[in-house]
Amino acid sequence: MSIPDEHKLIEARDFKYCPWCGSRLESRRLDGVMRSACPSCEYIWYKNPIPATGAIIVDDNRVLLVKRKYPPKVGDWCIPAGFMEYDESPVECCKREVKEETGLDIKIERLFWNYKAGDDPRSIVVLILYLASVIDGDLLPGDDALETKYFDLERLPSNIAFSAHRRAIKDLKKYLEDGELPRENEP
Ligand SMILES: [Zn+2]
Repeated sequence: MSIPDEHKLIEARDFKYCPWCGSRLESRRLDGVMRSACPSCEYIWYKNPIPATGAIIVDDNRVLLVKRKYPPKVGDWCIPAGFMEYDESPVECCKREVKEETGLDIKIERLFWNYKAGDDPRSIVVLILYLASVIDGDLLPGDDALETKYFDLERLPSNIAFSAHRRAIKDLKKYLEDGELPRENEP
């Protein structure tokens, strides 16, 4: 399998210098993994994915999507979601992102599933999605959205932004048909 261009972009943005002392980092095999480590201090860069959370909001067989205003994938549609702030819980992040992007206040109904996203040029992402229902607010795109609206699941836009979102929508269709939550990620 070839490496998508996005991965090369992520690699190009790797740290070159120690964020603690400024020495040039070296490659070192640690725990069987090549890592960047500082020859001058104790710093080892454990490169981890970034967690993001979002909400699947369904109304009468339609799913709520947001049109992206900022890169990457400007103009593409995605499930309302975003990166976790450092001190947030996943649920807090989800409610904040949905409010920011759609204007809606939501109630979390249950965990839907989690996805590894490898095609976001900013980082490998772990996307945690909840099923949620609207409790308040008016549907209006927020500062980081061009548009937000419900789409019939049989008439979705062709430009869904990320592979994790496309997989989640596929899983959602199955869930709405047979009530089965996703069990295992596709390879
Ligand atoms: Zn250092």
